Amino acid sequence: MERKESSKLYKEACRYIPGGVNSPVRAFKSVGLDPLFVKEAKGSRITDVDGREYIDYIGSWGPMILGHGSQVATKDVARFIEAGTSYGFATGAEVDMAKLIIEAYPSMDKVRMVNSGTEATMSALRVARGFTGRDKILKFEGCYHGHSDALLVRSGSGTLTFGVATSAGVPADVVKHTLVSGYNNIEELRNVFSQHKDEIAAVILEPIAGNMGVVAPELEFLSELRSLTKEQGTVLIFDEVITGFRVAYGGAQSYFGIEPDMTCLGKIIGAGLPVGAFGGKAEIMDCLAPLGPVYQAGTLSGNPLAMKMGMNVLNHLRDHPEIYEDIEDKAKFLEEGFLKNIKETGAKAQVVRCAGMLCLFFTDREIKTYQDVMTCDTEMYARYFSGMLDGGILLAPAQFEGIFLSAAHTKEDLEKTLEVNRMVLKEMYNG
Ligand SMILES: *Cc1c(COP(=O)(O)O)cnc(C)c1O
Repeated sequence: MERKESSKLYKEACRYIPGGVNSPVRAFKSVGLDPLFVKEAKGSRITDVDGREYIDYIGSWGPMILGHGSQVATKDVARFIEAGTSYGFATGAEVDMAKLIIEAYPSMDKVRMVNSGTEATMSALRVARGFTGRDKILKFEGCYHGHSDALLVRSGSGTLTFGVATSAGVPADVVKHTLVSGYNNIEELRNVFSQHKDEIAAVILEPIAGNMGVVAPELEFLSELRSLTKEQGTVLIFDEVITGFRVAYGGAQSYFGIEPDMTCLGKIIGAGLPVGAFGGKAEIMDCLAPLGPVYQAGTLSGNPLAMKMGMNVLNHLRDHPEIYEDIEDKAKFLEEGFLKNIKETGAKAQVVRCAGMLCLFFTDREIKTYQDVMTCDTEMYARYFSGMLDGGILLAPAQFEGIFLSAAHTKEDLEKTLEVNRMVLKEMYNG
């Protein structure tokens, strides 16, 4: 289906912006289409510049848990704009936000605000290294933690899609301290810890992997990780930039009942404005300047507008815990529907759901590890994506991303999604 205005804008954008986009996955490269340009969005719906409306399952890649244009999120924000948008001084809003986050995450004694998830993970690693006096860090295959040098090693999403194992422009000297192990691979984890005994400053992971599609962690893997890190004085960092305030108000750590030493947040806590946060035990966080020797700073960090909108959403989520049940129910409804459609059409596909996170993989292999994910047929996904888009359903334009549900998705949205899903799979496998 043609999207004339989008294609026109894209052409123009390509003259001024590398690849026409400010973040690679927006380019629709891996599904072989021109990218969509958005005019506006409300609730579960997004409207493109050609005037076509879609049910949106990207939700700005996570932040929009209450749906687009939520009046809960924007309440009193005009007053904050009139009061000046940034001061370079401390404000009460930052104190309120810190308190709100710490109350939700008992593993955190202190928290610092930054402007993106990338900044949060990068800074968390620096503190962990400063705190332990060690250089080595460990990450897991297929986990994405933003685009800072040390973490851009076998990461997910964009880098999986584009088959870039390690980005150009990252010196080998910078990543030589980054160890990589397999997600859900307990044996390999034990080997890494015995090979580098007492040398690893920090382990960082997505407690539910959301950047290689959705991969659920095995509980045994998480608890082994917790006990090995405790044993060796390694800082365990949960990157909850997606899962934080999404799978439960207290994030994946409360969902699984496993406490990390540090936590990174982003996405939902900014309600669509640029925000990140990292926090943890006081003895670790107090290594930060101005108290300690680890430097970290930000001109716009904790800016009042982002604090206000973020708090509006977090307060609402805290007061409405039923939202989490609702989102998980919606995810289950889609999961069951997808499975039924797969069976009926003979599609070679898998559905993975963990809490309210969900993903449809085009492979006949059960999905537990990064290697399983890599067996997916991305060309089939491209066809699927295109069919769904033409049917008015906007999915992530890449196989290695999940479905983001919100409180705004209605039963009718989900039913329509399943109906289009059935038709598209039928066309793909029988047509
Ligand atoms: C999105 C994401 C990041 C990076 O956040 P940005 O705000 O895009 O820099 C880090 N970790 C995870 C798990 C993410 O999903």
